[in-house]
Amino acid sequence: MYNDKVHRISDYKKYGHTYCDTGEILHQWSVGSIYGILQNTNYLGSLQPYKSEKRLHEEKDSIFYTKEDEEEAVHHTHQAIVSVKLFEKVQNRLKIKMSDKKTQYKSKYTENIYRNILYCGNCGKVMHSVYYQSRKKDERHYSYYCKRAYFIDHRKCEKNYIREEQVTSLVQKQLCNTFKEQQIEAKDFIKLNMDECDRRIAEYERKGGKIAKEFEYMKKQAAMMYGRYKEGEITKEEYLAFKQNKKEQDNYAKKSLEEMKQKIRRAKDKAEEENKFLCSLLKADICKTLNIQLVEAFMEKISIFSNGVVDIVYTFSKGEE
Ligand SMILES: [Zn+2]
Repeated sequence: MYNDKVHRISDYKKYGHTYCDTGEILHQWSVGSIYGILQNTNYLGSLQPYKSEKRLHEEKDSIFYTKEDEEEAVHHTHQAIVSVKLFEKVQNRLKIKMSDKKTQYKSKYTENIYRNILYCGNCGKVMHSVYYQSRKKDERHYSYYCKRAYFIDHRKCEKNYIREEQVTSLVQKQLCNTFKEQQIEAKDFIKLNMDECDRRIAEYERKGGKIAKEFEYMKKQAAMMYGRYKEGEITKEEYLAFKQNKKEQDNYAKKSLEEMKQKIRRAKDKAEEENKFLCSLLKADICKTLNIQLVEAFMEKISIFSNGVVDIVYTFSKGEE
């Protein structure tokens, strides 16, 4: 269609005609659009959703099937340009293609750690990932390429391909060098991390302290109210109402205090866990510990250029947060 200069759907809507004229931009058709057309029942001459023979039989057997349904189903709204036979043949081909894709890889899921930050340096678009199966282990290995290298229109990009292992080995070397150059050490990150954790814990403790104070105040208040009740200053009903109110407040305070304690525990656990992987950064086996959290914590963007240049944008640098 590109060779025949047929506008894709969005360009057809923009220009209002099918064929590309001089001065207009011609784009290639996307895979998604072609799939959409192949599955669109409008070409069968009906605006009804397409149903296979089997599905129709099932529906006719249903107790909910009415005469109106039948009339509606056979109603043709416009001239068909594709026969039902051909349409079904295409659907079967698509189905087989889909099931092929699903059964090909049955392995355990291995994380695609660069999926959100790897870009093609030539055209700026996200690198597309594909994976292959390791023969030895039940693992997936990813490689990344620029989809636009296979475009046929003016957006065509240069061939740009890199394997996950190559990215990892570069990233590790670069990260370690950068840490050394900028004299950033794991202990700096750990200190930052602990400061943040302490700040949060102090906040929880402050809130907890406030609740405990209120609790103590209510306790004193209760002793005083009991005295007044005994002296006959307040009625039994008034005293009981106060007690009921106090009970509710106490329950609320106890719950809140328990929540604060839990939050503090969780903050400590989280900081400890984070420190562990910060420590693993400086170790030689950083390769084994690179995961998506770590990758995204330290790097904002990795651009791959087809001439071999790899550009890494870090999320940190010395002197800045
Ligand atoms: Zn590209």
